Amino acid sequence: KIEVKQLKKSYGSNQVLKGIDLTVQDNEVVVMIGPSGSGKSTFLRTLNKLEEPTSGSIVVDGHDLVDPKTDINHVREKIGMVFQHFNLFNNLTVGENVMLAPTELNKMNKEEAEFTAKELLKEVGLEDKFDAKPASLSGGQKQRVAIARTLAMKPDMILFDEPTSALDPEMVGDVLAVMKALAKEGMTMIVVTHEMGFAKEVADRVVFMADGYIMEEGTPEQIFGNPQNSRTQEFLDKVL
Ligand code: ATP
Ligand code: MG
Repeated sequence: KIEVKQLKKSYGSNQVLKGIDLTVQDNEVVVMIGPSGSGKSTFLRTLNKLEEPTSGSIVVDGHDLVDPKTDINHVREKIGMVFQHFNLFNNLTVGENVMLAPTELNKMNKEEAEFTAKELLKEVGLEDKFDAKPASLSGGQKQRVAIARTLAMKPDMILFDEPTSALDPEMVGDVLAVMKALAKEGMTMIVVTHEMGFAKEVADRVVFMADGYIMEEGTPEQIFGNPQNSRTQEFLDKVL
């Protein structure tokens, strides 16, 4: 569970998050939409302390991220993050990429890590790519490896920041299908995306962000079918 209260974040005089309140329950899928520059990425990055909040509180599974005594590495292990650019290690094989974090952090021995990596690669439809080098994969395949790599740490929740935005259109569906399967299995997820079809189909809740505020949130039916805020209406008119 993620509980964010009155979260603010400024870069110098530029206030990017202006008081965000958001609670995400276990097993919930929240899709975050909004115009470029509205603070979506900044918000996700504060949730695992890639960015330091200026004020406000963030509590993840009972761990207060603002408290300097909190072991942030422990919290980060529980919060997976998947970005637009997958950042696989090109000198390692696909399997080694997936095995890296759990073995480096002594979460698993090599045999366990290898077994887990093979299982996860099967889950994302890439069981035959264990020994392949990332350079030989398509963008969509690389992103699915990145998801498997994140899953290898057995996270309690995963934050996705535009995971399909850098992909060729024909690759998008395979990645969204993997995310949809994760959602079905009950993974807690916050997904920033422009894929409105995914939002409609998979989101428990859609959050519309603009100018550093959550302007509106609701079920996909509410947000897409009957948006109340004029900014939401304007945004949806442009993207739908
Ligand atoms: P997009 O849809 O384009 O990804 P976004 O909603 O994710 O946009 P952010 O990337 O969170 O938006 O950026 C929000 C604002 O914060 C922008 O004005 C941006 O210039 C500013 N910003 C983001 N990161 C930094 C940084 N590291 N230093 C200074 N300003 C930043
Ligand atoms: Mg962004």
